[in-house]
Amino acid sequence: MRSIKWKLIAMYLGLVLIVMIVSGTYILLSLRNIEIDKSRQRLEIYAEKIQEQVIHGATEETFQENLQKTVTNAMGIQGNILNSRGDTIATTTALQPPYTQYTDQAILFGMNGTASFSSGKKNTDSFGLLKEWLSYAMPVKTDDGEVAYIVYTRLDAGDMQTSLNETTKTIIMAVAIALFLAAIMGYVFAQTLTVPILALTKGAKNMASGELKQSLEVRSNDEIGQLTSSFNHMAAELRKNMSEISKEKNRLEIILHNMSDGVISFAKEGELMLANTAAEDMLHLEKMDLDFSSFIKKFDINTGVYLDMGDEPSKKVTFPVGKQFIHANFSPHYNTKQEMEGVVVVLQDVTEQKKLDDMRKEFVANVSHELRTPLTTVKSYTETLMEGALDDRETAIEFLSIIDSEADRMAFLVRDLLQLSRFDNKQVHLQITEMEMNSYLETIVKQYKIHAEAKKQTFFFQPCDHPVVIFGDRDRVGQVVNNIISNAIKYSLEQAEIKIYMTEDESWYKISVKDTGMGISREDLPRIFERFYRVDKARSRAMGGTGLGLAIAKEIMESHKGRLTAESEYGKGTTMTMWFPKKRPILEYEQEDLLE
Ligand code: ADP
Repeated sequence: MRSIKWKLIAMYLGLVLIVMIVSGTYILLSLRNIEIDKSRQRLEIYAEKIQEQVIHGATEETFQENLQKTVTNAMGIQGNILNSRGDTIATTTALQPPYTQYTDQAILFGMNGTASFSSGKKNTDSFGLLKEWLSYAMPVKTDDGEVAYIVYTRLDAGDMQTSLNETTKTIIMAVAIALFLAAIMGYVFAQTLTVPILALTKGAKNMASGELKQSLEVRSNDEIGQLTSSFNHMAAELRKNMSEISKEKNRLEIILHNMSDGVISFAKEGELMLANTAAEDMLHLEKMDLDFSSFIKKFDINTGVYLDMGDEPSKKVTFPVGKQFIHANFSPHYNTKQEMEGVVVVLQDVTEQKKLDDMRKEFVANVSHELRTPLTTVKSYTETLMEGALDDRETAIEFLSIIDSEADRMAFLVRDLLQLSRFDNKQVHLQITEMEMNSYLETIVKQYKIHAEAKKQTFFFQPCDHPVVIFGDRDRVGQVVNNIISNAIKYSLEQAEIKIYMTEDESWYKISVKDTGMGISREDLPRIFERFYRVDKARSRAMGGTGLGLAIAKEIMESHKGRLTAESEYGKGTTMTMWFPKKRPILEYEQEDLLE
């Protein structure tokens, strides 16, 4: 009985049953009353007939005989005449005494002078069968108002009952037919209601399982039809909203997966919600599948990062992943009720930043260190001079020359630092000219010949058989060449051979300075272009080097769109090569007004 269909049919049947029972009972009762009224009339008419035709103006002895004669059109009615005591003195039911004696309420009323009708009285008939009777007793009074006789007529109620029973049967049949028809109608009606409801239910189920592209047929204009069209409207709206949501989601996913910052989101209990590709790349994971605690454990992040960070708005942590440094910002996110929903972690690769930061710190430390040594020397010699050494002229001169050379060293250092700072701040202006390198190198080499010869080094320049024209700032290119040649002499022992030569390929002129000096170890080689990097600090310092020469040389070469490379084998020698582009390059730092 769960279905609305059966409920409707049951209600229908119940309704029909109630209506039929009530109306049937009413009809039956009315019919019975009509029948009883009709019978009463007949009994009255018959009683009056007896009074007029049998009793009126006759004597008691003739009653029986006359009564028998009057039984003409009063079919089924018994007529009796009773005396004032209630004894039967004449009857239509028997020809001669003894006559049936009656005990009836109506007779008692009659004896008291009132005509009275009684129904439903059970009594035996002349054959001794128990029957139900309708009876009427009418007093016949003398002139002075005394009850002389009582005319008592009665009628077998069985006939009436039979006809009433027939009517009852008919009514029951009608009820049965009505119930049957009501069941059919109820079914049809229920069907018209339930079919669209079932279709709606099915549609809603399909919609719940994600099938949004559906439209139900609207079959009627009634409430169900309106419900169906509302359903279709809702489906269409839902479709639209879903497509917008999915579009939005796609957009967010595209943004999330294409952003350079890593994003990881954890739910309240710590389970992983999402992680973008950048996060996976930064953490060197093929697929991020760690929950919060495994994530913290794997990357050893133990500096007070918890899933529930209390009132803290966010927590920043930097941790290493392989050679990289990752900065993570943990921030909790809340729902509209301000309950913590989870934690979002934004990751940034700060390796470069950290490297720069470290370099900056190292640079400041280096500069301080480089300045401290000459300053200490100057200070101590000045103090010694002030304490009396000034009087000894020879010592004073020696001390002053030391102070002078230390001051020079500081001046060189500051000069080099300033130059580097200009490159850093892009404040360099190059005056580019065409330089023919055969003649240019020849003059420089000449200047170094004396230094090399002082160290008994073989020093020579192998010019090119054709002119080599490069585009460069004369002074700056000179600075690079000087630095490289002086390094070759500085870092080569006596008897070493230093050779300067030029080669070329399709796009480059290459000027190499090759020495058979001490060479540079494989570990140190990539670092010699770093600021303040010196393989042998003591030797470099002793030779007046600042450790910035090659760093500046590299900046100069790069500002010329060229390169500076070093090849070396420890103990065997070094080849430094300057690369100049053959084609005239477009340079960032070039002073245009001075172009040739
Ligand atoms: P420095 O002022 O110390 O010469 P540079 O920047 O010119 O500084 O050179 C950096 C370091 O590279 C030097 O300290 C030296 O150890 C190494 N170096 C440079 N040129 C050579 C070379 N030709 N042979 C061996 N070592 C060299």
